[in-house]
Amino acid sequence: MLSLLRKLSSFFAHNPPVLHPAPRVEEVVNEEVFNNYSFIISGRINYFNELSFDLKQKFINRAYNFIRTKQFHYIGLEQKEEIPVLIAASAIQVTLGLKNYLMQHFKNIYVLADAYHMDNDDELYIGHVAPEGIYLSWRHFLFGYSDNTDNINVAVHEMSHALLYNNFFAQYGIDKNFRLNYEKFSTTTGPILADVITRRKSYLRSYAFSSLHEFWAVSVEAFFENPAGLKENMPDLYLALCRVLNQDPVSKNKILNPEL
Ligand SMILES: [Zn+2]
Repeated sequence: MLSLLRKLSSFFAHNPPVLHPAPRVEEVVNEEVFNNYSFIISGRINYFNELSFDLKQKFINRAYNFIRTKQFHYIGLEQKEEIPVLIAASAIQVTLGLKNYLMQHFKNIYVLADAYHMDNDDELYIGHVAPEGIYLSWRHFLFGYSDNTDNINVAVHEMSHALLYNNFFAQYGIDKNFRLNYEKFSTTTGPILADVITRRKSYLRSYAFSSLHEFWAVSVEAFFENPAGLKENMPDLYLALCRVLNQDPVSKNKILNPEL
């Protein structure tokens, strides 16, 4: 995965971002769409079930508009209505506290039936983010939301990478507050990483310590998979993530500053 990150970084460094048109006006969904999306999302994503009615409306409007701005490609599996709805929901879960959530650099989402190989790489992947799009194994997507205790959720992981790339390397859909708060976040993670190295163990899985990008993505996975567990075991990291994503998944209201 490290080599992939290097490839990504060098791509972004040497290729100017593709310019995309400004977003169309956001649509508000009607009752039928709201009920349909609610039905699909509530069966899989517990985070959604914990939201107030107003936040559910915001969540679904955002998911609907996210889908409008993406093209979904299906590789080895049939197109089903629930697939884009649930994938959009995973992106909206991560970005619900942010103003800009469309991640406009990423126009394409590739959904593969199962784990896959890339190029001449022998390794199997369950998801990755590349300049041309976001890739996810559908089998592992579902697995990620089926167990809330293992801190593994490939969709949340890849959306966290995509959010970071969109905000630091793309030209549209930049969220100024996110950028500012992420820069603060990366300065607070130094002592956390030093502590982990000293103790030689961490609540987060070891993959988090392979790079700063992976530390971010694995941390966000834990933040949404088992927020109470992360808050108890790594309170400083939990607080730093609350600030950067403007949400507190343990709290009833979820969103910290609704004005952002
Ligand atoms: Zn990763």
